[in-house]
Amino acid sequence: MNISTSQELFEKAQKFIPGGVNSPVRAFRAVGGSPVFIKSAKGPYIYDEDGNEYIELINSWGPMILGHANEMIQKAVYDAVQNSFSFGAPTRREVEMAELIVSMVPSIEKVRMVNSGTEATMSAIRVARGFTGRDKIIKFEGCYHGHGDSFLIAAGSGAATFGTPDSPGVTKGVANDTLTAPYNDLASVQQLVEANRNHIAALILEPVVGNMGCVLPEEGFLEGLRKICDEEGIVLIFDEVMTGFRLSKGGAQERFGIIPDLTTLGKIIGGGMPVGAYGGKAEIMNWVSPLGPVYQAGTLSGNPIAMAAGLAMLNYLNENPEVYSQLEASGNKLTSGFAKTNAKLGLDFTVNHIGSMYTLFFTNQKVKDFPSAKSSDLVLFGKYFHAMLDQGIYMGPSQFESMFLSTALTDAHLDRIIEANEQALKVALSL
Ligand SMILES: *Cc1c(COP(=O)(O)O)cnc(C)c1O
Repeated sequence: MNISTSQELFEKAQKFIPGGVNSPVRAFRAVGGSPVFIKSAKGPYIYDEDGNEYIELINSWGPMILGHANEMIQKAVYDAVQNSFSFGAPTRREVEMAELIVSMVPSIEKVRMVNSGTEATMSAIRVARGFTGRDKIIKFEGCYHGHGDSFLIAAGSGAATFGTPDSPGVTKGVANDTLTAPYNDLASVQQLVEANRNHIAALILEPVVGNMGCVLPEEGFLEGLRKICDEEGIVLIFDEVMTGFRLSKGGAQERFGIIPDLTTLGKIIGGGMPVGAYGGKAEIMNWVSPLGPVYQAGTLSGNPIAMAAGLAMLNYLNENPEVYSQLEASGNKLTSGFAKTNAKLGLDFTVNHIGSMYTLFFTNQKVKDFPSAKSSDLVLFGKYFHAMLDQGIYMGPSQFESMFLSTALTDAHLDRIIEANEQALKVALSL
């Protein structure tokens, strides 16, 4: 495969951009080699600067749930652009967007739009602290909640990939206010809560984890957290930046039937534009300025072009429930195909899967938390990743990421991915 144009661009990029990229995982450091630079994408396909075509399994880390360059969303954006790009003033579409989010996401009674998932989680934690008058938060090892200071403690995704789950530059004071527990370990949470009674403002988690690879909550875990938070007056925050509008139209909370106090959203909510949101119980959201004393603002928040894209996306998902049955079927077909290949090749690798999210871990351990995710053979993953790329399959370049299916993938595409997976495993394992 010729990627010489990408390589030239990457050389130049490294002169002017730290590491050559604007977000660390894109640099391919976890898998080695040079990143491919993307020129365009349409439906299930993405094209690099050298004209190579790949089938998409990243989909911008989730937002492209309907495939790339969806014409309905394109039209909404073209129409919106005619009326200028930004006003810094309230607009009709923001009201429609808020009303729609409230109707779709079970926990949300009031919602505030922001520009990224990071902003959403930072703001949710601030309002939880204001509301409870407490300072500390609990997060889980390997969960990623964006790059806000409070969350760069035992963080997943790129932070895990680069071995810097605790980032320099986060002050000791901030770090001391973040307590961490192992995922799926209720007893540890209970201990932390007992040791810090009346000091914990919020407990934040990915209700299904995408950022240590795909990891599911075990039976009773979400219920147990809900109970602890109720008993202790702790604000339960579901970070559904990844799972929101993906695992069902109401996210993981609808799928599992557990209602958090606050929810953070991003990715799909912007239809590919930079958008995030946080919302939840009115009683808590009423603390946000200008109604309440907790300050949070944004020059470009609720941007009209971003709202047009997001609104078109959410309206479509809301009105077309078959999206979710299709994604469910695609996820099942793909991962049962992987399981068959594992059996055929005599491998015992773990495939975690829910709906349109999955990760193949190069370990025979059950992956239920960060230590078990880290038991994966990362060198093998790197070989597998490049073998998949060579066969035209574009995956997340790290073991600690989930793949994201789109509705643009047909059965024929899924069969091609299953076949590529078998070939890539043979190459990686020199079978
Ligand atoms: C992607 C992600 C974030 C951060 O969102 P950005 O838009 O990248 O700032 C936060 N939480 C979760 C669960 C995510 O997957």
